[in-house]
Amino acid sequence: MYKAPVEEIAFTLKHVAGLAPALEDGRLGDLTDDLVEAILSEAGRFATEEVAPLAEIGDKQGARFIDGVVKMPDGWPALYKAWAEGGWNSLTAAPDFGGQGLPHMLHVAALEMWNSGSMAFAIGPTLTIGAIEALTTHGSDHLKTTYLPKMVSGEWMGSMNLTEPHAGSDLGVMKTRAERRDDGTYRLFGQKIFITYGEHDFTNNIVHLVLARLPDAPAGTRGISLFLVPKFLVNADGSLGPRNDVHCHSIEHKLGIHGSPTCTMIYGDGRFGDEPGAIGWLVGEENRGLACMFTMMNNARLAVGMQGVAIAEAAMQKAIAYAKERTQGKAPGWQGSGMSPIIEHPDVARMLLTMRVLTQGARAITYACAHAIDMAHGDDAKHWAERASLLTPIAKSFATDAGVDVSSLGVQVHGGMGFIEETGAARLYRDARIAPIYEGTNGIQAIDLVTRKLPQSDGNHIRGFIAELRDIAAKARAANTPELGETGARLEASIADLESATDWLLATLAEGKQAEALAGATPYQRLFGLVLTGAYLAKGALADGGDGRNGERAALCRFSAENIIGETAALKDRVINGAASLAAARAALG
Ligand SMILES: Cc1cc2nc3c(=O)[nH]c(=O)nc-3n(C[C@H](O)[C@H](O)[C@H](O)COP(=O)(O)OP(=O)(O)OC[C@H]3O[C@@H](n4cnc5c(N)ncnc54)[C@H](O)[C@@H]3O)c2cc1C
Repeated sequence: MYKAPVEEIAFTLKHVAGLAPALEDGRLGDLTDDLVEAILSEAGRFATEEVAPLAEIGDKQGARFIDGVVKMPDGWPALYKAWAEGGWNSLTAAPDFGGQGLPHMLHVAALEMWNSGSMAFAIGPTLTIGAIEALTTHGSDHLKTTYLPKMVSGEWMGSMNLTEPHAGSDLGVMKTRAERRDDGTYRLFGQKIFITYGEHDFTNNIVHLVLARLPDAPAGTRGISLFLVPKFLVNADGSLGPRNDVHCHSIEHKLGIHGSPTCTMIYGDGRFGDEPGAIGWLVGEENRGLACMFTMMNNARLAVGMQGVAIAEAAMQKAIAYAKERTQGKAPGWQGSGMSPIIEHPDVARMLLTMRVLTQGARAITYACAHAIDMAHGDDAKHWAERASLLTPIAKSFATDAGVDVSSLGVQVHGGMGFIEETGAARLYRDARIAPIYEGTNGIQAIDLVTRKLPQSDGNHIRGFIAELRDIAAKARAANTPELGETGARLEASIADLESATDWLLATLAEGKQAEALAGATPYQRLFGLVLTGAYLAKGALADGGDGRNGERAALCRFSAENIIGETAALKDRVINGAASLAAARAALG
């Protein structure tokens, strides 16, 4: 059973991602080390003792669609109630609306633990928190005072409605339409698919944030507006009024996250109300909806990255425990009586250590992204906003790929039992698979990274970041301890690969050769994630004891440098030299 790794999480937050210096400098207001510890350990306890035990029933029973109503798995409504009463929805929300105004770093750490407990459960509250952020940033005072207090307290949940049958990655072609009414409200008509927690029995109202198009809107993404559409209309005194003209038509049968209802939502077919049309309120300005939704999506992208870390951690814990118990054969040098535990076999140890490196690397990258988001509210805001936007696609993609890779290795470590549902390893693998797809596929993240994030400040931001990474490598080289092995030199080589690939991409984009640059976008994204993994593991090893001598952390860092991050050389080659063969081989696809 999963046990929240609170100590490792606290260490990574403080000594790798930047929480400790931010606390010391007072950049996080009144937040103290004691409060950080208290929040992390209570979030960890909740994840371990309350969420994780209900993951299996959520998977087996799933969310069910019965007579037009979504019934959540047994025990889950009470779990949600306990979660909301614990105040967990309010961690980062604004104090004006009942929130605690705490940094994102704490939120993502808590998210990691809840998602390790059950990803299908944690995704619901995550979307509500994203909706709270979008409303806080872009909503009118009327919308904020009407909806935010109840969303922050958890009394109502939110959902995010972008996708339509023909409009997934390309939202510019969406058809859901909105009509203006004289009283300042709008009426919405259309169908949204794949809407997570679009309907459920956790709360008595659901606040849908919906993208739609006005009749006179320009074509494409510049003609999309964002609306708030409640399931039940809200009276002036805050009580619930009549049902709005929106309902869930059906829910999907899926590979994983069975407890999370994935809903087809129908807006404005006349099922409820006096006249057809779901009543909605504009959030932000007309035709600026995508920019508003991006507030929610950036938050959600990092949150989905946390799902990758979370699944990886849970899969790794399960695999290590199994490998210590299961005995087969005799490992080289095994002195014990009888068969050796499989963890003693070099190939099994290799799998487990790879799992640990990818998990810890993904954790460090996602936390560093959250740190940049927190810092972007203070001095040097431009620098930190650029860092956050550079790290977001890497955090989302590298961590969710790690979730799939690590949970797949977890199945492998279990052998045949991994393929049998009883162990739970298979559930983690099935759950992990959605994360590289939703919130912008990892391919779309790679395009964002290469075409929008690298050119920030004429390429100077990324160059500055590479210089920071070089500094870590230089410190590892200077430490020169046997425990760190070749870390300094290997990390320097990987950083050089990142630099060459970056320079090539910036030059290729500047020449207008978009197709050539995009052919290597995903290998580049992976390359970047591996370099960051190596650098952050080294930073952690150096911080632990000051000289990289601490056994466990230094050993893992060395393993990553000498066994994992060397892939960057091949990835660099694919970025720089892969486009021509890709274009030529298109014929092979028919
Ligand atoms: C379980 C689940 C929950 C979801 N929850 C929500 C939700 O709450 N709200 C919501 O609005 N949506 C939700 N979605 C939808 C999800 O965000 C989309 O499925 C996702 O964005 C991909 O869109 P698509 O499925 O239409 O795939 P497509 O856009 O058709 O993509 C198919 C493939 O083509 C690639 N591709 C597409 N365009 C390009 C391009 N320009 N360049 C390169 N490659 C490209 C993609 O990377 C992908 O590999 C959910 C989906 C699932 C399965």
